[in-house]
Amino acid sequence: MALANEHFLKLPGSYLFSDIAKKVNSFKITHPKQNLIRLGIGDVTRPLPPACIEALHKAVDEMSEADTFHGYGPEQGYGFLIEAIIKNDYLPRGIHLTPAEVFINDGAKSDTGNIGDILRHDNSVGVTDPIYPVYIDSNVMCGRAGILQDNGKWSNVTYMPCTAENGFIPAIPEKRIDIVYLCYPNNPTGTTLTKAELKKWVDYALDNDTLILFDAAYEAFIREEDVPHSIYEIKGAKKCAIEFRSFSKTAGFTGMRCGYTIVPKELTGATLTGERIALNGLWNRRQCTKFNGTSYITQRAAEAIYTPEGKRQIKENIDYYLDNARTMKEELAAAGLQTYGGTNSPYIWLKTPDGTDSWKFFEQMLYEAYVVGTPGVGFGPSGEGYMRLTAFGTHEDCQEAMYRIRKWLG
Ligand code: PLP
Repeated sequence: MALANEHFLKLPGSYLFSDIAKKVNSFKITHPKQNLIRLGIGDVTRPLPPACIEALHKAVDEMSEADTFHGYGPEQGYGFLIEAIIKNDYLPRGIHLTPAEVFINDGAKSDTGNIGDILRHDNSVGVTDPIYPVYIDSNVMCGRAGILQDNGKWSNVTYMPCTAENGFIPAIPEKRIDIVYLCYPNNPTGTTLTKAELKKWVDYALDNDTLILFDAAYEAFIREEDVPHSIYEIKGAKKCAIEFRSFSKTAGFTGMRCGYTIVPKELTGATLTGERIALNGLWNRRQCTKFNGTSYITQRAAEAIYTPEGKRQIKENIDYYLDNARTMKEELAAAGLQTYGGTNSPYIWLKTPDGTDSWKFFEQMLYEAYVVGTPGVGFGPSGEGYMRLTAFGTHEDCQEAMYRIRKWLG
């Protein structure tokens, strides 16, 4: 008899986006003719940049000839992409990485979820609240999160609330925590940390021997000067942080699947006897055993992002989404709503009016404005009373959605 991993049974039965889909389906049954605008799920709508398409075609052609065909590639990724990442994403910011510190993957979801494989099950965990659900759920699956309590929080997880009251800046914990997840620019709030704020976290991590798991999936949306693009811009961070990046939102790769993880050589974890172990070696071992690399054609397409045309084309797409975000913020303000984020991020975090709870506001907006958002409480207890709207739609849809919301709220 195979015993099941019962930690999975602790996970709440339904997933946020399936709950939303059910509610949207009910709406459609009762309102078959009403068209809806979806500003809920964080998927992109702009097609791949032409530079990536060209690189893909070329790579596909290579696969058709015995001389240029590629079978299994290096588990860690091809050198051409790793070099392009180091040269373009890190060197210009004064960050020196060696190729062995960069691991190409099939997207940040995999690695933010899998990284726990190299960490003991009984580490304590800290998360900002609200939060991208993968961080907690992946810890629940291996038993690290503890048990779900009546207040909706997991017993072995420290929650660091990020709300309008603290300007969405998580307070440094008073106690020490083994592993802390930080995501900036943040999903779902769309807010950022300045260099000075992020430095406080690096200092905390160095003082407390804490590992920071830094998710920078939305780095390409940063437009303000004082917002760090990489945690390694902060001195000492290579000793305490792993960084995750993704091409999904940067270059429209949500359906292509490619990202990367930086595990610095200097970063160590401890054994129970106090010996220090390089996490880079453990992650390399983990990847070589469980991952067979991202496809060659996908990595060639990702490499094309770093050509002059590729850079210009991805910037145009990101500017398109940021333009949506700006319009949405202006229109929502004109409708009397308070919003956050949306300046260095494709996400707008909206305070529901008059203390309406997240799900109630979701339903009202669905049934009265025909616009779909994501209830903030679905991202954690501190998300109650907020909604997340994404700027990934077309200009036309975003404008129409804002028109509907303004009309609805009078
Ligand atoms: N990290 C954050 C914060 C995200 O919001 C997402 C996707 O929405 C991911 C990681 C996953 O991205 P990928 O498509 O690279 O798996």
